[in-house]
Amino acid sequence: MLEVRNLSHHYGDRQVLDDVSFEVAPGHLTGFVGANGAGKTTTMRAILGLIRPNSGEVLVNARSISNADRAGIGYMPEERGLYPKMKVHEQIVYFAQLHGVDKTSAAKRADELLERVGLAERRESKVEDLSLGNQQRAQICVALVHDPSILILDEPFSGLDPIAVEAVLAVLQERADAGAPVLFSSHQLEVVEKLSDDLVIISNGRVVAKGARQALQEQHSQGLYRFGID
Ligand code: ATP
Repeated sequence: MLEVRNLSHHYGDRQVLDDVSFEVAPGHLTGFVGANGAGKTTTMRAILGLIRPNSGEVLVNARSISNADRAGIGYMPEERGLYPKMKVHEQIVYFAQLHGVDKTSAAKRADELLERVGLAERRESKVEDLSLGNQQRAQICVALVHDPSILILDEPFSGLDPIAVEAVLAVLQERADAGAPVLFSSHQLEVVEKLSDDLVIISNGRVVAKGARQALQEQHSQGLYRFGID
């Protein structure tokens, strides 16, 4: 279980997170939805330890997140971080090795993932020669190659065609089925509604709704609830 508890953060005078709390259950795909600037990336960066929030904490299995927990996170940043001149397969193996995976296992896992996301035939292409959608598929392989115990993906579905969305969803679901909490962000409610088990909705740095997707959808359709974004 990944838990974010009472996170608040300021940039200068501007409060960008205001008492953000939610849980990401093992085995669940949790969609983190909010408009541009709502605070999704900042929350993810706080989970990863890339920023130190002004207050609040991140827990893994009810204990304060450790460096070892963070090393086991598979992260896909919003600003994609691939090396343009490196070949796709080589690059995925390189990142796996940074996580301590041996080269032979990494090469095998990279091939499996490339096959799963429909990028196998581009394994020897340089990243700079791929379309943006294909670069994104490669980035998802990087996030998954060390079989992470927690997955955090910033806008993984944006810009993907429906076939790629299905393929990526299947590999995320496989990680969830192996017991990993999976958190992914999107600014499109309709995307997240289709793809997630649970929803966390953030608006102007505050969580305005959270829970099982179906329950939230029912509240929404009965007019009991406004999502805060449309
Ligand atoms: P987007 O999808 O547009 O990235 P988001 O929900 O991920 O949206 P954040 O990136 O977390 O939102 O940004 C929240 C707010 O914090 C925004 O108003 C943004 O301009 C501001 N912000 C983010 N990073 C910084 C920074 N390093 N310095 C100052 N302000 C920042």
